[in-house]
Amino acid sequence: MLKTRQQNVTSATWSPNGVALGTSDLTDASNNPFGQDVFSTEVQRDRLPSDVFEKLQSTLAGGEALDPSLADAVAEAMKGWALERGATHYTHVFQPLTGLTAEKHDSFFEPDSDGNWIAGFSGKELIQGEPDASSFPTGGVRDTFEARGYTAWDPTSPAFIIENPNGALLCIPTAFVSWTGEALDAKIPLLRSMDALSKTAVRALRLLGDAESQRVFTTVGPEQEYFLIDEQYYYARPDLVTTGRTLFGAKPPKGHELDDHYFGAIPERVLACIMDFENELAKLGVPIKTRHNEVAPGQYELAPIFENSNVGSDHQQLSMQIMQKVARNYGLVCLLHEKPFAGVNGSGKHNNWSMGTDSGHNLLDPGATPAENVSFMFFCAAVIQAVNLHQGLLRASVANIGQDHRLGANEAPPAIISIFLGAELEKAFEAIATGRGDGVTQAQVMELGASVLPPLPKHGGDRNRTSPFAFTGNKFEFRALGSSMSLAFPNTVLNTIVAESIDDLSDGLEKKLEAGTDIAEAVQEVVGATYKANKQVCFNGDNYDEAWHAEAEKRGLKNLRTTPDALPEVLADSTVAAFEQYDVLSKRELESRYEVWLEQYTMRANIEAETADAIGRTMLLPAALRHLELTDEAEIEALNSETRELVNGLVGALQSLEQANHYPDGVEGLDLALHARDKQLAGMAEVREWADRLEKVVADDLWPLPKYSEMLFIR
Ligand code: ADP
Ligand code: MG
Repeated sequence: MLKTRQQNVTSATWSPNGVALGTSDLTDASNNPFGQDVFSTEVQRDRLPSDVFEKLQSTLAGGEALDPSLADAVAEAMKGWALERGATHYTHVFQPLTGLTAEKHDSFFEPDSDGNWIAGFSGKELIQGEPDASSFPTGGVRDTFEARGYTAWDPTSPAFIIENPNGALLCIPTAFVSWTGEALDAKIPLLRSMDALSKTAVRALRLLGDAESQRVFTTVGPEQEYFLIDEQYYYARPDLVTTGRTLFGAKPPKGHELDDHYFGAIPERVLACIMDFENELAKLGVPIKTRHNEVAPGQYELAPIFENSNVGSDHQQLSMQIMQKVARNYGLVCLLHEKPFAGVNGSGKHNNWSMGTDSGHNLLDPGATPAENVSFMFFCAAVIQAVNLHQGLLRASVANIGQDHRLGANEAPPAIISIFLGAELEKAFEAIATGRGDGVTQAQVMELGASVLPPLPKHGGDRNRTSPFAFTGNKFEFRALGSSMSLAFPNTVLNTIVAESIDDLSDGLEKKLEAGTDIAEAVQEVVGATYKANKQVCFNGDNYDEAWHAEAEKRGLKNLRTTPDALPEVLADSTVAAFEQYDVLSKRELESRYEVWLEQYTMRANIEAETADAIGRTMLLPAALRHLELTDEAEIEALNSETRELVNGLVGALQSLEQANHYPDGVEGLDLALHARDKQLAGMAEVREWADRLEKVVADDLWPLPKYSEMLFIR
């Protein structure tokens, strides 16, 4: 059998590594692994002296700064708990600007004066770590010789234990700052933005007559799309290993046209693997709720129940890490790239976002009739204004090189940010804005026409899969995130810009109330005016439609197609003003992010371009030349000239790519990113075109890369 075919047969074979039936009875609560490896509130209640526990809890509930005197007691309890569970090391986990998490492990053990190893872990070590900051991107905030950086314990995100076959590790979520106090990570601005939103929302609630709520939390529930492919193919593809996506690959005869994958039955090995994801994540307290097949072959989705933005964002980083780790136990590789396969739907992440009070009220829940819920209409109007004023920034918050293949490509929302409100809500806003008609949509029931089926209550709005920012019942769903992304920055942006708008609307409301206007009327006026001024960003139709792109341009909405187009929005005046007003990020901190993200774009483009060149020249061209020899020998002119033309095309394209891969002198920053986009990525696309045509011609046993029809369909 051919080498590749043997690989397929091996890939398709798997044996379960456990026996499900009879293992444990999950109706017995004590068998449920949820939270088993988390230093949870319950564990803390058990292990901390009661006064320490009470103080810690009230600090956390109030969102106040931590009393350092508590740290020693907490550290002692944490250490005891971790050691009992087999931990030998601890680490401060942080999120540098790479978008990934970082960790440096320290042993609990150190020698005492008698040379014995004893376990030590004090409050000081819990609260503060000091990793060398010089090797993390800072975007010019620090010079390389200025290495000092600190990690600071985030007591609002619970510590947890990661198991490894050879030991366990206590992980402490932390923030990461430079010695000069600038945020070098993704967590600090997120926490600051949550504070900002809480303050402004509580102010608004007071005006709206809520005397109780003390704090408002932003919430996030991400839906994560990903691919699972057999690891044999992965390791046979240097492009996947190096760049996370296939730089070559002809379209397979069968794609997702038959719609036979979406929500289909999950293949057994894949399901076993997903269940293991869920089990491992459950131990870590990540509440995974939903799993299903996605549109593309080999593509799946995982979604947790929502949590507050900070914990939800930490859990999302953890989920991505665990998914990649666990998949390997099943001979699979989990691909989180935004576009691993050209011509096949890519993977995104839907960011469900809302605001809830500490008394448990969701501020974006319209109740039975939104038009009559003044507080809902107020907060919803604030979101509409925020999204309209900061469209560009929202677009920039989801920009990365992988996204450029996806956004606007009829599989994901376009690069134009707009809001889907749905029919019911639009009607309510229109009625308020025009002062005409009644905005109330009567509750409707759908009869299914078969007596055994129950009547279904109908939602006030249909779904719109094409909108980048859709109201979905009691939350907004920001659908433009990429699958590999951290939730932190998009949510930082959302929280900050909505905080700004809430304040703005509150100013208006306050004035009217002071002038003696009745509250209901005052809210109507503010909401009506806000909606009128910002309704250009609302669009209920098909976002994939070209006609919409033309219409959006007429409305003056931004269409920032690629990462280099979008990133400058991070430094737009409106961004700096909002971020500085709420102390979320200073201009300097924003600049550092811009620099880092731009550089990441350019570097990743360059890595892709060099990988494409290397594979093209050292794997594909030789295969094509061997095939050319075959056609020479066979003396069949038609085949020979066809192959020769393709080989010539490939050689020419490789030469231009190599030229593009030499950076022009003196070009840097945004200009270099544009060079990467317009010369290197364009050059790769040309190489690929010839190579993919060759893939369909060259003898199968000569072609060195696993094909799409194998990678996507054999599992
Ligand atoms: P969909 O209609 O998009 O399939 P689901 O109800 O399944 O919606 O929810 C999708 C995601 O939205 C889940 O992760 C869920 O936890 C999250 N979600 C639900 N309510 C909220 C909320 N108030 N804030 C943030 N996320 C939420
Ligand atoms: Mg959804």
